[in-house]
This record gives sequence, C-alpha cells and structure tokens, in this order.
Amino acid sequence: MNRTLAIVKPDAVAAGRAGQIIAQLESAGLRPRAVRMLTMTRAQARSFYEVHRDRPFYDSLVAFMTSGPCIPIVLEAPGAVGRLRRAIGATDPAEAAPGTVRRLHAESKERNAIHGSDSDPNARREIGFFFAECEVPDGGRG
Ligand code: UDP
Ligand code: MG
Repeated sequence: MNRTLAIVKPDAVAAGRAGQIIAQLESAGLRPRAVRMLTMTRAQARSFYEVHRDRPFYDSLVAFMTSGPCIPIVLEAPGAVGRLRRAIGATDPAEAAPGTVRRLHAESKERNAIHGSDSDPNARREIGFFFAECEVPDGGRG
C-alpha cells in the first residue's frame, strides 16, 4: 500500500465536477486518506510548480491554479502513483485515453481538471506540501 497526491484543480471545482471526479478515483481503486479544500496563494503555486519555472506556461499555470479553490487529496492504493496517473490520462485532454478523468472533465491542456504526482519521491514532497504529519502519519510512505 502506498500514497500519492491528487489535486482537483480550480476549473473542475468551479464546474461542480469534484464529486464525480473523486467518485471516479474511488472506482479506480484509489482510497481517499486525507482531503483539504483551499485557494492557493501565488507564492504557494509558484513553489508547488517550481520544477516548471522556466517553461513558457508557468505564469499562466500559476494564475490558473490560484483562480479559485482546489481540493488536494492523499490517495492510498497498491502502486498508488501509477494507478492515479493511469486514471487521470495524458496532460492534454485531446490525447487522454477514453474514460480518463482528463478526457471526461478537462477543458484544455492547461485547465485539465486534476493533478497527479509523477513519482514516489514527488508524491512524498507534494503530500508534505499540503498535509501535516498529524493528518497523514508517516507522510507519503510509498
Ligand atoms: N501545462 C500547460 N501547458 C503545457 C504543459 C503543462 O498549461 O504545455 C500545465 C497543465 O495544467 C499541467 C501542469 O502544467 O497539468 C503541469 O505540467 P506537467 O507536464 O507536469 O503535466 P502533468 O504531470 O500534470 O500531466
Ligand atoms: Mg506533472
């Protein structure tokens, strides 16, 4: 059993799709372990997406991610990171497989409904970014 981080992004929350998306993750075998709802500050979004700071889409991504409330969720499953990435689909919804969260719910490559950690080390970092030790004892584990 290990853990990963999903974020239901501001586009999906604003569109009233958070419940459907969380249900879809549960159907994919991912069990919610901790949940929050918050609006990221610019500093938080810049830090969370630090790895993309030199990419042309960085400023726009930060503006999008701070545009309204989002829902970070710690998910637990065997092979949690890969399981979530398969459930959410490719970054661009036009390239996402049928039935994936992004294919069903995303508007564009930027406004793509959901985040998923891309590796176990990044899952641990991202869980620690949003959740305190008392909320997820032993952090990301996996
Ligand atoms: N993004 C974008 N344009 C791009 C690539 C990415 O706006 O050409 C945004 C999109 O919201 C994406 C996020 O930046 O989810 C992080 O990009 P990454 O390449 O890590 O994609 P992901 O891991 O989310 O599939
Ligand atoms: Mg990524």
